[in-house]
Amino acid sequence: MRHDHLLTAKQLSREDVETVLDRAAEFDRDPSAARERHAGELLGLCFFEPSTRTKMSFETAAKRLGADVVDMGSVESSSVKKGESLADTVRVVEGYADALVLRHPKQGAAKMASEYVDVPVVNAGDGAGHHPSQTLLDLYTIREHAGLDDISVGIMGDLKYGRTVHSLAHALTNFDVRQHFVSPESLRLPRSVRYDLHESGAQVREHEDLEDVLPNLDVLYVTRIQRERFPDEDEYEAVAGEYSITPDVLERAKDDLSVMHPLPRVDEIAPEVDDTDYATYFEQAHNGVPVRMALLDLLL
Ligand code: ASP
Repeated sequence: MRHDHLLTAKQLSREDVETVLDRAAEFDRDPSAARERHAGELLGLCFFEPSTRTKMSFETAAKRLGADVVDMGSVESSSVKKGESLADTVRVVEGYADALVLRHPKQGAAKMASEYVDVPVVNAGDGAGHHPSQTLLDLYTIREHAGLDDISVGIMGDLKYGRTVHSLAHALTNFDVRQHFVSPESLRLPRSVRYDLHESGAQVREHEDLEDVLPNLDVLYVTRIQRERFPDEDEYEAVAGEYSITPDVLERAKDDLSVMHPLPRVDEIAPEVDDTDYATYFEQAHNGVPVRMALLDLLL
């Protein structure tokens, strides 16, 4: 990978994706290959929004590579609470760490931060923008289950505010993938993303009803309605609980469909699906470790 920072999935070529995924597969096969590769290096974690998987898997990945982390902690317990700017925070943490992982509620925050520091910055989610390291682990999981060419992927839920959706949709344009977007009208993909997909010549269809497309899908990527991004609670209430994947719904799916979800889920996948062969979301979350190991290995 020839990038200093990982800010959006738009910057990833097919070759970049394959480089990260192949290295992740090596680490997956032989975790001892990673030991001490980055001994003495430090990863700075700056999370201005809640996180479980992204933060813990970056931390696990760093430690498996022999590196360690320094963590800003919660916004509540940091100087952000005293009014410190993002630019100042990242310039300070740059002095402690060899790379930064940043999550922030404002779209464009990671790009802005990258302009202030010389160490690599990984965007771990910028508002409703992008979440490219999530996309790499999504692609890893899709590749393991269905391969990345000549497949149909359904992406369902909050396509408007879902940053994992925006990143995945862009990255899939590098592959021979038919993308089917399923959402209520009010949560359609943003115009800018639709424009980019169109420009890249991607094979894209939009649907309001999952039934129209479910039997053709190899992967169904379900997402949470991003309640925290809605400007008003009534708008959220109008779409909350609009869809739920249950074993009954999946009766019309191919036997080898993989149901994925970046997690956390709220009520969009029923717990009864967890025990079926469709459920791929916990494995997907576990793949965050080898994929982020590969990413850090290439960036550090
Ligand atoms: N964990 C993912 C994110 O940070 C998905 C979600 O929160 O719904 O974007």
